[in-house]
Amino acid sequence: MEAIKLESVTLEYKSHNNGIVRAVDNVSLSVNAGEFIALVGHNGSGKSTLAKLLNGLLIPRLGDVQIYGVSTRDKAKIFEIRKNIGMVFQNPDNQMIASIVEDDIAFGPENLGIEREEIIRRVEWALTKVNMLEHRKSTPFKMSGGQKQRLAIAGILAVKPSIIVFDESTAMLDPEGRREVLAVAHELNKNENITVILITHYMDEAINADRVIVMSRGRIVTDGTPERVFAQKDMLESLHLSLPLPTSIAYNLSKSGLDISENILSESQLEEALCKVLK
Ligand code: ADP
Ligand code: MG
Repeated sequence: MEAIKLESVTLEYKSHNNGIVRAVDNVSLSVNAGEFIALVGHNGSGKSTLAKLLNGLLIPRLGDVQIYGVSTRDKAKIFEIRKNIGMVFQNPDNQMIASIVEDDIAFGPENLGIEREEIIRRVEWALTKVNMLEHRKSTPFKMSGGQKQRLAIAGILAVKPSIIVFDESTAMLDPEGRREVLAVAHELNKNENITVILITHYMDEAINADRVIVMSRGRIVTDGTPERVFAQKDMLESLHLSLPLPTSIAYNLSKSGLDISENILSESQLEEALCKVLK
């Protein structure tokens, strides 16, 4: 089933000197329900604009965005669309409202007028999903960035979306926090069948996605499996994008004459390939 569909979508902003910035330029895209997509690209390539087009925060100038077949132009259904697409942003400190964790998670469903019993169930479920149930009575303000981001995810989960967009949600986190948030994203994709759009500039976070989409200057320049996308080393280099670290190490070793596969994405694949060569 098609969760997200963009048909020739163009979005322009007015720039300060009365010019026009075409942030998304004639983009067509189809995402099936349950897919895990990594969206990468240089700063200013249009990733956040694309994210805002998905939940109707922005409406395209040309073309159409559909979520489960409903256009974001349909004003009567925009609330439904927003409920269906959760957004986790970059700054863990900007996404909390209440001073007690469980009140914060309850905020979304309360706004939807959901009955008390069901809210309690959802809060417990959402906190369990992000491994934060033991902190339900705590205050979020002193928590680590990774914990705060997981609470932000729980707050979104409590509204029961079928799609979650992570817009550089790991960018401000330490490596441990990044791992925690990424693990939650994969867990929700696998076990709750939530469609995930993970916007990131860490290529290592993209290697376990079903698809990697690369944007540049408002356009999709490539879209495929991680193996296919990260094999296009010259293209990525021309866009000033790095390779996943294990890929880059294998590539350089191969260039220096070592007989090692170039199609390596993860640390464990690199380990295996190196053992084979060294034996
Ligand atoms: P990314 O998330 O990939 O860094 P953005 O979608 O934020 O890219 O930005 C795409 C382009 O649109 C950039 O050139 C950026 O400067 C411009 N842009 C983004 N938001 C605005 C805005 N509110 N007003 C004017 N220009 C904007
Ligand atoms: Mg952005």
